[in-house]
Amino acid sequence: MGLNASDPDAGRTEVAAAPAEGVFTTTLDKMVRWARAGSLWPLPFGTACCAIEFMSVVSSHYDLARFGAEVVRFSPRQSDMMIVAGTVVDKQAPILKLIYEQMCAPKWVISMGVCASSGGFYRAYHVMQGIDEVVPVDVYVPGCPPTPEGLIYAILKLQEKIERGDPSHWQVEAERRAADDRSQQLVGS
Ligand code: SF4
Repeated sequence: MGLNASDPDAGRTEVAAAPAEGVFTTTLDKMVRWARAGSLWPLPFGTACCAIEFMSVVSSHYDLARFGAEVVRFSPRQSDMMIVAGTVVDKQAPILKLIYEQMCAPKWVISMGVCASSGGFYRAYHVMQGIDEVVPVDVYVPGCPPTPEGLIYAILKLQEKIERGDPSHWQVEAERRAADDRSQQLVGS
């Protein structure tokens, strides 16, 4: 770099302009989003045949570990991505909501298959016509049965959203509730 005895700062400028090979800069926010997107912990709420497709996704052939989302947990305290796979009847709705509320935040929900997304072909009084009646859904997977590739695609889309910094529906709901509370307080005061 050629230090000049008459100008002691000349070398410093050159080093700052050309960082050593293998060095990169980023922001803490970007790094946290990247880490979150690559380490989702799924909680499967499997009630029917869609859950079998989910099982294949975490097994050796499809190997969800390639995308960092293979650490399946059945405790809401240890999960941040709920995958609802199957038909959900009205009696299960409060259980689904409770488990969702107990999950770590920030959290995301994938609705897998037409039954979870819209009730599917169960146009019946006892079946929920879409889980978004009780939990906010971030990605819907179409199909009956949805393919393992479809679920992997949904997880990749969710990862893209997290890396971009898009707010999860949980965050949107939380902000809306906080705004409602504030207006209630203003009305009451
Ligand atoms: S969408 Fe199809 S495969 Fe999935 S739970 Fe419903 S009936 Fe079964």
